[in-house]
Amino acid sequence: MSEPMEILRLESVYRTYTQGNAKLDILRGAEFSLYPGEAVALVAPSGAGKSTLLHMAGLLERPDAGEVIIGGRATSGLSDAERTRIRRNEIGFVYQFHHLMPEFSATENIMLPQLIAGLDKSEAKSRADQLLSWLGLPERGTHRPTELSGGEQQRVAIARAVANAPRVLLADEPTGNLDIVTAEAVFDSLFKLIKATGLAALVATHNLELAARMDRRITLRDGLAVEV
Ligand code: ADP
Repeated sequence: MSEPMEILRLESVYRTYTQGNAKLDILRGAEFSLYPGEAVALVAPSGAGKSTLLHMAGLLERPDAGEVIIGGRATSGLSDAERTRIRRNEIGFVYQFHHLMPEFSATENIMLPQLIAGLDKSEAKSRADQLLSWLGLPERGTHRPTELSGGEQQRVAIARAVANAPRVLLADEPTGNLDIVTAEAVFDSLFKLIKATGLAALVATHNLELAARMDRRITLRDGLAVEV
């Protein structure tokens, strides 16, 4: 049997939260596919369930029903340890705030996940240097996060997220904390990386101009992911 082309697939995913007496049906059978080398914007109002969808896709939470398939492999029946392994190997995360380690340099922040994954120091360093250069920061490796601008910090966070060459990048408002011009520049770097490496990215954003430049756009409507 040939492998499906999509790297990430959500099949009929349901998720309900309880708040007090209220039941919130956030995802009600959401279906979605993500293909290698594409950037897909996830644009929906606050509270619509963007983070929820990203958490399901990233195996951070389990759906109440439905299936999340990564690289052709269904994940609902897997143990937490197996899900963690897939998450570490296949998925990178970027958030609105960079969460870089303040006591480490940019290069060291990008090396850390690689060292944890078992790479030796020189391999991790050369990969970090390559990523910094791809992301337009060849001169910033020795700087600590506080010595970097907001846009530079986010580029380092992106480099860290893809340091172990995941096949999927999930980003929750990655440029939400940046001014328009900086947001565009950071997105340009990310887009180049996606096209150069075949990474697949799902990016929740409120920035409609950035969304317009991505390959596809989806929104959440009545708990379903719909193409717009
Ligand atoms: P978005 O990212 O689009 O702003 P979220 O996915 O964060 O939306 O949240 C969707 C809805 O689900 C919100 O109303 C939020 O309050 C609710 N929600 C999210 N996570 C939980 C949780 N763990 N417990 C209860 N309610 C939650």
